Amino acid sequence: MHDKPLAIYPGSFDPFTLGHKDLVERGLAVFDRLVVAVVDNPQKTSLFTSEERVQMIREAFDYDPRVRVEAFDGLLVDYVKAIGARVILRGLRAVSDFEYEFQMAQMNRQLEDSIETFFMMTGQNFFYLNSRLVKEVARLGGSVRGLVPDNVLARLEEKFGVNR
Ligand code: ADP
Repeated sequence: MHDKPLAIYPGSFDPFTLGHKDLVERGLAVFDRLVVAVVDNPQKTSLFTSEERVQMIREAFDYDPRVRVEAFDGLLVDYVKAIGARVILRGLRAVSDFEYEFQMAQMNRQLEDSIETFFMMTGQNFFYLNSRLVKEVARLGGSVRGLVPDNVLARLEEKFGVNR
């Protein structure tokens, strides 16, 4: 189905941050194409719907044809197989990510041995950046400029009002 190396970058992306964006850009230096796969989990409350998150990520890459953005539900390995990919891309920040990421990678390997998980580090500026903090700060009226793409900033400002 696919002739060029393809990786899946899954996550909640609620919202998509510059840390996520940096990781996609680094990923594109290694893989020809990436699918950013937005987890659509109705059991988890999210600030933005999966459709909104997909839309915002597409905009953030200006509809770059190398970056496909889709929502998915169910088991990640099933989705990866359905799409014809063999690689899951995940980001690592400070030490706190290791435990959880290793558990997930091992579980996914247990479920589907032919799929590999690749880890990449983001740029140093984004080591401590996470979506939860971005939401908290935005909700409390603080500025998250420089932490999220401009189009995401605009959506957060729409939701929570602006504090300049
Ligand atoms: P989750 O899948 O746990 O809901 P997120 O949507 O927040 O996580 O992130 C998706 C992936 O991107 C995860 O692998 C996470 O470790 C990684 N990630 C998130 N923020 C950053 C960042 N600032 N730098 C590097 N990787 C990140």
